Amino acid sequence: MADIRKCQVLVVGGGPGGYPAAIRAGQLGLDTVIVDKHGLGGTCLNRGCIPSKAFIHAASKYEEMLSHTGKGALGITLTAEPVLEMAGVTAWKDTIVSKLTKGVGQLLKAAKVEAVSGWATFSDAKTCTVALEDGKTLTIQAENVILATGSKETELPFLPFGGPVIGSTEALQLTELPEKLVVVGAGYIGLELGIAFAKMGSQVSFVEAADAILPLYDAEMTRPITQWLKRHKVDVHLKARAKGFEEKNGKAILQFEDADGKLQSLEADKILVAVGRRPVTEGWGLENMGLDMAGPFLRIDDQCRTPMRGVYAIGDLVGEPLLAHKATAQGELVAEVIAGHRRRFDPNSIAAVCFTEPEIVGVGLTPDEAKKKGESVITGKFPLAASGRALSMEGGADGGFVRITARESDHVILGIHAVGKHVSELSGEFALAIEMGARLEDIAGTIHVHPTLTEGFAESALAALGHPIHIPAL
Ligand code: FAD
Repeated sequence: MADIRKCQVLVVGGGPGGYPAAIRAGQLGLDTVIVDKHGLGGTCLNRGCIPSKAFIHAASKYEEMLSHTGKGALGITLTAEPVLEMAGVTAWKDTIVSKLTKGVGQLLKAAKVEAVSGWATFSDAKTCTVALEDGKTLTIQAENVILATGSKETELPFLPFGGPVIGSTEALQLTELPEKLVVVGAGYIGLELGIAFAKMGSQVSFVEAADAILPLYDAEMTRPITQWLKRHKVDVHLKARAKGFEEKNGKAILQFEDADGKLQSLEADKILVAVGRRPVTEGWGLENMGLDMAGPFLRIDDQCRTPMRGVYAIGDLVGEPLLAHKATAQGELVAEVIAGHRRRFDPNSIAAVCFTEPEIVGVGLTPDEAKKKGESVITGKFPLAASGRALSMEGGADGGFVRITARESDHVILGIHAVGKHVSELSGEFALAIEMGARLEDIAGTIHVHPTLTEGFAESALAALGHPIHIPAL
């Protein structure tokens, strides 16, 4: 007879959605159990956000050092070339992952949450059986269930993972640098990783079906990245459709149809397929739970409730944007909803960052999106080339800018977008401005610290108002 554990809250999935939900539920005094099979921290900590940012950091460090070898830029000369060992980069990344995932375990413990390692399968909406690591099973019956099973990489049927064809998970585990890397998909994950590998020394090519990289952003935003790719001899094939691959003399040959419909091929040591992610809706008994779907995702309302009383769902499982901070916000909220707090998930916007070279931040509407919604807008743009702080950092000004979009009638800010080195760190201030319904005058009237990139935000507001200080008024 298997053990039965009864609890008030069961969380399935220990990613950035599930573990904050469990911690908050524990803080609120609810008897909480969290189950995860592949390590606390989920995709984000183990094979997503954090590992990729560690790779990007190591790659940027290496590239920067290489650029100083024998050249003396900034008055610093490296007299010997730096040496990059891929196995060392991966091992360093693993130390960060291990620190963070252990930390999650400690936080859960401190909140008196029981963490169970294993795969959960539901037999009905409130009962699951966990296949534990020691081969035993544990049945859990919960008053409330939070589903946070996340997402996984989309596989292309004609480029199945295995051998030279890898997804982002495997790319972040490589211990040898691929000499030639072909990346299928130039969305943010493909670009972040492809650029990192290019910086580490791989010869990188992109094959993208759309007519632009990062199709969610406008051309003004992506131009600095396109220029970086050109400068670094990274090939980008747009309107190009991958068709399949073959292996020849130890190399993979990717076949693709180019923009003119001609069949082309690219030689690679690895083919990284980064064409999106899809929710994990199979293999855990969803069919036994009586829930509704919204396309490929689980349908929820603005309190993350499914149609089944006491069953909630959050994170990548419930739809776009597939981002860790959205999952976390829903996780905290849902625990409070269960505890009886009045909460609704209704953000004005959710900021998104691409950790490319340079970085991109977007919050709210672009000018075109605002116009499509019938808004009459004014915009202000401040080039980072006029920012003292940006200029004082190598490459800090290269093509970067902060752009603000506001409603013409009342100057309420509808969108903020920035491109440039380190602009990801501005995302918090941008999100705050939009969430608080700031007007251009609020940002222009806030004293921003000198010298920081945040001054560019105030200047973009001033530019929209027609009287910037550090660039000529138009
Ligand atoms: P996940 O993090 O996917 O966690 C779900 C967990 O549930 C997994 O551990 C899974 O094993 C477990 N699980 C599922 N079913 C069961 C079951 N039946 N029993 C037990 N366990 C189960 N987002 C950002 O915001 N910023 C970034 O910079 C960023 N970079 C990324 C880079 C890469 C390479 C990738 C792949 C993703 C990146 N993301 C980023 C996206 C981010 O990782 C996800 O949006 C986020 O992890 C989603 O959180 P989640 O809690 O919904 O699910």
